[in-house]
Amino acid sequence: MPLQLFDAMAREGFEELVALHDSESGMRALLAIHDTSRGPAFGGIRRWSYSVESTALMDALRLARAMTRKCVLLDLPCGGGKIVMLDREGLDLKQAYGAIGRAVERLNGHYYTGPDVNTGPEELGYVSAETSYCTDPGLEGPGELANCTAEGVFQGIEAALVSLDGEVDWSQRKVLIQGLGAVGEMLARRLLEQGARVLASEIDPERVHAVSASLEVEMVEPGTEMEAACDVFAPCALGGILHDLSVERLQCKVVAGGANNPLSRMEHGERLHQRGILFVPDFVINAGALVRGSIFHLEGRREPVAVVGGRVRRSVERVLSAAQESGTAPIATALRLADGAES
Ligand code: NAD
Repeated sequence: MPLQLFDAMAREGFEELVALHDSESGMRALLAIHDTSRGPAFGGIRRWSYSVESTALMDALRLARAMTRKCVLLDLPCGGGKIVMLDREGLDLKQAYGAIGRAVERLNGHYYTGPDVNTGPEELGYVSAETSYCTDPGLEGPGELANCTAEGVFQGIEAALVSLDGEVDWSQRKVLIQGLGAVGEMLARRLLEQGARVLASEIDPERVHAVSASLEVEMVEPGTEMEAACDVFAPCALGGILHDLSVERLQCKVVAGGANNPLSRMEHGERLHQRGILFVPDFVINAGALVRGSIFHLEGRREPVAVVGGRVRRSVERVLSAAQESGTAPIATALRLADGAES
């Protein structure tokens, strides 16, 4: 390991980084635990084909870091963690996720895991066969988590539009969702119920087919979504999509979605602010699953979806009004509130 790794961990206050390997399946994964000073770490499992190991490492660290910020801003008695699994063709998912489950079990409640990109109910079933420290959405678990994330995003978008325009009037609003996965689809459904016009981009043709068979979503070509004129751009796919080029292309009033770490660098949130685009920080608006999962595990309650959404909404309102008062970008305000309270 290069020495800079320890410098990076020290700079951001990371506690633990574990490399996981299972000889039987060939599973390779990284488990990052950021901060457990408030309580056990929570964070899902992301499975992705990373081109190089260092990208997977950076993803694990950034995702775990964001989880701690969510815990602080939502005032939850837990901290941030994350697993990233290096995907490859032919990986036996049952064995690979089973090995992850055994690794989580060994931590004996120091870390709870759950869903993230490419880890849904089926994969979580393999994990929870080996450990009880998993937010399995089955009958014994906390219930549908992506739904809670989508509800928080929906209510957070409402709060953002109210803070800008004083009202929402969904019948006059156009929202573009990038990524129609678990969160994106549920967000689309919620917006359509309210009468909004919903556009979306999705790279997986099977998902396009499945979602457009049941929802009236207008599909746009992936790669063109940044230029589409709309009220709200909702990133619900992967991180790092807001960078030097894309922040200049956006034609929306608000950027607010489920995706973790959509900003390539924090400065891009400042740039959106300069451009008059309201960026609602991801670690404020996408905490619904964490709220539901952590309350279920730590307090034994299944918080209703609407209550989870309301909690996220109040957190978004708090950050946006503090940003307005101080005249700073919401990203700067959210970081100050989260990191200031942490230390
Ligand atoms: P998912 O894997 O179910 O969905 C992601 C979707 O995005 C997939 O359908 C994928 O094909 C699509 N996609 C990927 N790259 C794309 C691109 N460039 N353009 C268009 N579509 C693209 O994942 P999810 O659970 O819906 O999570 C989505 C995002 O929300 C992730 O960043 C995740 O970390 C974050 N998040 C999810 C939850 C949750 O409860 N599931 C909670 C907090 C944050």
